[in-house]
Amino acid sequence: MKITARICLACESPIVGRIDKKFCDDSCRNHYNNQMNDNYASAHVRNVNNILRRNRRILEELLAPLKQKKVVIARQRLVEAGFHFGYITEHHQPNKKSHYYYCYEYGYRSIDQEKVLAIKDTRKKRFAR
Ligand SMILES: [Zn+2]
Repeated sequence: MKITARICLACESPIVGRIDKKFCDDSCRNHYNNQMNDNYASAHVRNVNNILRRNRRILEELLAPLKQKKVVIARQRLVEAGFHFGYITEHHQPNKKSHYYYCYEYGYRSIDQEKVLAIKDTRKKRFAR
C-alpha cells in the first residue's frame, strides 16, 4: 500500500484523520477559501485595470501627436488596437444627445455606426482640492 503524507492546504501541517481530509480543521479551511477568493478578486481587478489602462493608452497614442484635442476615428481601428468599448471610468452626458465615455482623461463619443470622436478631457479637473 502506498502511503502519501497529506498536508493541510492552508498551513502545511501533516493531516491526521480521514483519507480525503484536506485541512486540519474548519479554521484552516476558511482561511484557505478566503485566500482563494481574494486571489480571484484581485486577479479580476487587475484584469479590469489593465483593460482600462490599455484603452487610455490607445486614445492617448492617437491624440498625443496631434495638435487638437479631438479626432474622428473608425471604431474598427480602435478595436484592432485592442480597445474594449465596454470598459470606461466615467460616463458624461452634457445634453440629451451626447454621451461621452472616458477612460481617465481620454474618451470618445459615438458619431455613427462606424466612427467615433476620440477626445482629451478638457473639463475642469474636479478631483483637485
Ligand atoms: Zn492547517
